[in-house]
Amino acid sequence: MGAQIIDGQAVAAQVRVEVKAQVAQWCANVGIRPGLATVLVGDDPASAVYVANKQKACAEVGIEGFSHHLPAGATQAKVEALLHELNGDERVSGILLQLPTPDHIDGSHLTTLIEAAKDVDGLTPVSAGLLAKGLPGLRPCTPAGVIELLHRYDVTLEGAEAVVVGRSDLVGKPVAALLLAENATVTICHSRTRDLEAVCRRADLLVAAVGRPRMVSGTWIKPGAAVIDVGINRTDDGLVGDVDFASASEVAGLITPVPRGVGPMTIAMLLGNTLKAARAQATRPSAPR
Ligand code: NAP
Repeated sequence: MGAQIIDGQAVAAQVRVEVKAQVAQWCANVGIRPGLATVLVGDDPASAVYVANKQKACAEVGIEGFSHHLPAGATQAKVEALLHELNGDERVSGILLQLPTPDHIDGSHLTTLIEAAKDVDGLTPVSAGLLAKGLPGLRPCTPAGVIELLHRYDVTLEGAEAVVVGRSDLVGKPVAALLLAENATVTICHSRTRDLEAVCRRADLLVAAVGRPRMVSGTWIKPGAAVIDVGINRTDDGLVGDVDFASASEVAGLITPVPRGVGPMTIAMLLGNTLKAARAQATRPSAPR
């Protein structure tokens, strides 16, 4: 029997509708719109498309967009000055620095300059620390999208054997931390894991975030397991995930497709994070004078 398909496109659309309603309510109560500032350095066409999509999504839900595009030759100091300015701008609830930056710019250092309260990407060391400590904070968008999908499809996480393949700061580690916070029993795998296939086969919930086309085949999957494929790989056959969908969907209980699985959740969660940041900033006690 084939697995139930987790429709990330539909869930993301639903999340956007909900955020739009919450933004309207927030504006009615507070009189100001949440704001998202995007910072793009250079002319990478893919990055320009990602930023444009984020700005468009903001406009659709009533979040004010502030788009900053610096030329490829911008200095590190120039970008740092912009981030400091945005940290202090009350109209800006969230700041998103589009990565990667050009080679002469230290993007990972720039990320550390974003104030945690405005870190809607959830990737600064402070946000990562808050997540690791189980303290309130802004969570990375793609990992938060994974958890949202699991909740909306009523996947039991408490006590579940969860295996995450991949340990990047962007996906693997935060997904694992979020699953641990949901009381799953979490195993994190990586390129040095021994007998990866056998470890994966233990999983009630398998999350693949590797970046290797169709690496996880159906024989790696426990019958009935929930399979979340974060991978996005461009191949001659088009966009494919890290999971071999054809064989995996014969064994799994639920599975995300690629595309239309995890991918659409990232921007939806970014919008939610921007509203969350605006709310937290509004209730934050002002600094002593
Ligand atoms: P990454 O930084 O390259 O990390 C890949 C991870 O996979 C590493 O931890 C690596 O292990 C592990 N790995 C590599 N080869 C392996 C193997 N043969 N066996 C087991 N583990 C292996 O990638 P990422 O940023 O986490 O992204 C992962 C995938 O998700 C990519 O396809 C990316 O495009 C996609 N992605 C999608 C979204 C979205 O849907 N919006 C967002 C972000 C990323 P080591 O640490 O040992 O090297």
